[in-house]
Amino acid sequence: MRITVDMNLCESHGQCVFAAPDIFSFDEEDYLVYEPAQPDELFAAAEKAAGSCPVRAISVQRDAS
Ligand code: SF4
Repeated sequence: MRITVDMNLCESHGQCVFAAPDIFSFDEEDYLVYEPAQPDELFAAAEKAAGSCPVRAISVQRDAS
């Protein structure tokens, strides 16, 4: 699956970090960091994070199969 965060929208609220700590974290300057390519096992966590983002900055796409 592939994760995209619109960093123009992201306000570093951090809900995604709480919802999916395996995917999202903050660096030492409180910028969101994440690896866009993620295993499908984390799809539910990624969807939860996307749903928790107050500015809807996160989109999640499953790999075409
Ligand atoms: S929940 Fe949304 S606004 Fe907050 S850090 Fe994550 S992507 Fe950014």
